[in-house]
Amino acid sequence: MEYVSSIDSNKKVDAAQAIIDGLSPDGGLYTPLFEHRFDLDQLKDLSYQDLSYAIIRYFFADLDLNQLEKDIRDAYDEKFDDPDIVPLAKLNDSYLLELFHGPTYAFKDLALSLLPKLLLNAYRVKDYHKDIAILTATSGDTGKAALESFKDVKHTSITVLYPEDGVSPIQKKQMATSKGDNVYVLAIKGNFDDCQRLVKQAYVSDRIKSECADLILSSANSINIGRLIPQIVYYYKAYFDLVRNKTIRLHDKVNFVVPTGNFGDILAGYLAKKSGLPVNRLICASNTNNVLTDFINTGIYDANRDFYTTISPSMDILVSSNLERLLYLLCEDSGYVKQLMDELKKNKRYEVDENLFKMIRENFDAYYADEEQCLGTIKETFEKDGIMIDPHTSVALNAYRQYKAYTDDETISVVLSTASPFKFGKDVLKAFGINEQDPMMAMKILSEMCHKDIPHNLAVLDEMEVRFKESVEIDEGMNMIIEHLKEVTNV
Ligand SMILES: *Cc1c(COP(=O)(O)O)cnc(C)c1O
Repeated sequence: MEYVSSIDSNKKVDAAQAIIDGLSPDGGLYTPLFEHRFDLDQLKDLSYQDLSYAIIRYFFADLDLNQLEKDIRDAYDEKFDDPDIVPLAKLNDSYLLELFHGPTYAFKDLALSLLPKLLLNAYRVKDYHKDIAILTATSGDTGKAALESFKDVKHTSITVLYPEDGVSPIQKKQMATSKGDNVYVLAIKGNFDDCQRLVKQAYVSDRIKSECADLILSSANSINIGRLIPQIVYYYKAYFDLVRNKTIRLHDKVNFVVPTGNFGDILAGYLAKKSGLPVNRLICASNTNNVLTDFINTGIYDANRDFYTTISPSMDILVSSNLERLLYLLCEDSGYVKQLMDELKKNKRYEVDENLFKMIRENFDAYYADEEQCLGTIKETFEKDGIMIDPHTSVALNAYRQYKAYTDDETISVVLSTASPFKFGKDVLKAFGINEQDPMMAMKILSEMCHKDIPHNLAVLDEMEVRFKESVEIDEGMNMIIEHLKEVTNV
């Protein structure tokens, strides 16, 4: 399997190199080129672990595969509080794929439980001897999942940047109380896009190249292909669960509805489709930051708009990185993708040609839900289905209902449920007219309402020491990154 830069297809590397680099040195995103389609009959009865191995080994064939198999068993073990890893729940009109049973209670755990192991595997295959510094921007959930998975992993350090006022109080607390000698957390006085831009600047920074010459920078964001590929697995798993419980027959098509921010999760869905999963429509759900809704409906990507801080903060993004990969996968013309990305940098806007737009429309639909719709769907789902959902899941479920009303499409649909409602307790309670500002108290009330225990790692948050309190202006970000890169990596 070759990975090529989305903006220069002459730049080809193997999987190990792509995982180590994170971003291609030219600033493009490594994208897998393949025609392979998996045999559904062979995969349909596998456990989550075996299914993961069958899929991931195809994409990462140049890694040490014995090690990969072991690492997958290690990654998807009792850290997850459900033996199915990604259980499927039934609603009146659709299914919820619960991706929040990992240690930090968001779907990011699925990929990040494995990423450090993939990185060390790649590292050995390439016989590297430098230490790897992971530098990651987060809109809330990636940060904690990455801190948790990289803490005290040898040869690595992890630095996380998050928007100071752009994450939920629980997300902030989760990050600020992180343990490990090789971790560092920094709040930026800006939004997620500012954090992501700082990370991208660090990659190409001459200062870092000279001052941190004994380090390799890499990323735990979904710009790293090591994050994206493991996410393909749960689309297959959900599909086979529907086959097993006889909701569908093997080879029937299903829809997937994905609450979207950086376009990583839904791109994994597209890769699942491209590799043979019978997918009808991929429905992209956005919150009030609806730049993707407009793009998928018009072919015009326009980030010149107000940025809103919403109750689904992990989707508060105006520049969705992984869209670049989709464009390349569809048109296979890296020169054209480069032209579009240059336009985006210069004017914060681009428009795709008719041909590319048609290919997007063949696969994707897009809807968005505003704050009121999001709250309404949380309440309605609890009252009608007895299930408490988080605001991100609610945005997706609302989008699905809009899609269904608009199209009358009766295809079985799976909505990706990306986080535990307990991470966003205060906002979830708002849906029921309850105003509770204290996040720990909010979790308690929620626990009583839905007769479920507060997830363990959230219940103990208040007893943990707050280790990271720093916040800096955007302009100061780079200095702080450099200072701490050296410190945390040399422990
Ligand atoms: C990260 C995240 C999303 C968005 O996923 P992308 O891969 O960035 O599109 C949605 N919901 C939750 C809870 C998340 O943490």
